[in-house]
Amino acid sequence: MGAKFEGAQEELRGMSHNPIRPWRSIERRKSRRIMVGNVPVGGDAPISVQTMTNTATTDVRATVEQVQRAAEAGADIVRVSVPDEASSKALKEIVRESPVPIVADIHFHYKRGIESAEAGAACLRINPGNIGSPERVREVIAAARDHGCSMRIGVNGGSLEKHLLEKYGEPCPEAMVESALDHIRILEDNDFHEFKISVKASDVFLSAAAYQGLAEVTDKPIHLGITEAGGLTSGTIKSAIGLGNLLWMGIGDTLRVSLSADPVEEIKVGYEILKSLGLRHRGVNIISCPSCARQGFDVIKTVEALEERLEHIKTPMSLSIIGCVVNGPGEALMTDVGFTGGGAGSGMVYLAGKASHKMSNAQMIDHIVEEVEKKAAEIEAEASSAQAAE
Ligand code: SF4
Repeated sequence: MGAKFEGAQEELRGMSHNPIRPWRSIERRKSRRIMVGNVPVGGDAPISVQTMTNTATTDVRATVEQVQRAAEAGADIVRVSVPDEASSKALKEIVRESPVPIVADIHFHYKRGIESAEAGAACLRINPGNIGSPERVREVIAAARDHGCSMRIGVNGGSLEKHLLEKYGEPCPEAMVESALDHIRILEDNDFHEFKISVKASDVFLSAAAYQGLAEVTDKPIHLGITEAGGLTSGTIKSAIGLGNLLWMGIGDTLRVSLSADPVEEIKVGYEILKSLGLRHRGVNIISCPSCARQGFDVIKTVEALEERLEHIKTPMSLSIIGCVVNGPGEALMTDVGFTGGGAGSGMVYLAGKASHKMSNAQMIDHIVEEVEKKAAEIEAEASSAQAAE
């Protein structure tokens, strides 16, 4: 590994290492960096958040609309299924309209791989071991190389190769890692190195153990996911436990939260997991209390309204909305903007941790939105002048 890579890793350690609160430090696993279109994955790149469309790919308008909504919610990369030739054709238009790199999801059919690379996909999710003859594998790799496409090897606990199931008796971490290594070998034998790998399973224990095993045997970037995680609530919890633990160990360069829900929800959950671990920040991190009889205003309704009204803010910042003085001033100390309920229909607004001024509950939501927008503009201005100074 070159000095440049080592330097980047130092920078990364700086990013995730917290010298004041070392118990918050996460040291990310060293991985090779690849590109998915213009998005770097691995090395010192931020952990990217992905989702997948659930429209018919041939319905270009609906698919592009979904990709755009996902991108607006923060998706760095979006995956689209390419089950047939008509979908490959549609992919070309989708890629052209998409604001983010598109990954083509291909199973078995090598021609779809070639067509997708030609259509401008940034990455092919394809398992080289399932393509067929070595000649077909070479053709897909050549198409990827010619069109600047990376790949993702996607091992899935539910569709492991027959010989591995016979060898291990059932899907297990060792079988999943062996499957990944088999696919890796095929790409490397063809001198192709621009790929990332996932070893997903719907079982949290199996997924987590497989990913840990994978992290030990390769320096390729790792794509995290718990497959078929479930609906919004159960899938979020499963993903937060599975992906959260792996990320906490420093494993994972990009992730997709799989939910039986709108892709925008997958993006929101992905960011929330990363935000909770201090690995990536986007938008307003709202800290709010569950509320109780002591609340000076309706905390739950206020937070619901603020979440909606502040969706447009992309600048990383924090806001505390706390029902009363029991926890309000303490939480406000750590946030950019804060509001703590008081008596007689009003509360205290905190700016940069300090009590600033009183505000009536009736006007508080509009006022907090203004304060947050003001703070976001300040942070953006500081960041651009710091960049200009560099
Ligand atoms: S901060 Fe106050 S209102 Fe909120 S839960 Fe605690 S005691 Fe109740």
